[in-house]
Amino acid sequence: MILSAFYALLNDIHDSASGRSGEPSAAHLSALDAFFPELIRPTLHMIDRSGVTCHIEPAGRKAYRMKDGQALYTILEPIKFCCCEFFEEHAVLDKADQLLCKHLIATHLAKALGILQESIETTEFQAGIISGAYF
Ligand SMILES: [Zn+2]
Repeated sequence: MILSAFYALLNDIHDSASGRSGEPSAAHLSALDAFFPELIRPTLHMIDRSGVTCHIEPAGRKAYRMKDGQALYTILEPIKFCCCEFFEEHAVLDKADQLLCKHLIATHLAKALGILQESIETTEFQAGIISGAYF
């Protein structure tokens, strides 16, 4: 299944990137390219340009946010759902947990590469995101 293979690749990237530059190797890049031929370049470009921020509440809940052009996207744990157009267009209900858009890929990749920017938040932060107060 493609998703488990992608997670295995992320583990591999994580293990080999630790202590290094935070950039995927050439071999990892071509593996990513094979998984997501149309998505990986714009995803890497987005990570390069604005990064991915991990907002952490005191209780440990995390929300990942990134800028894509003018839009701000928020991904909540367990990193399975995005509210972007691509995700909505491609998410057939019973396949939605298999789907990855560039925001989900970016979150996974930034984690694996150890390049997340961390921001400590109040307890109300994620509730605010969910209710739309921080959009
Ligand atoms: Zn998305």
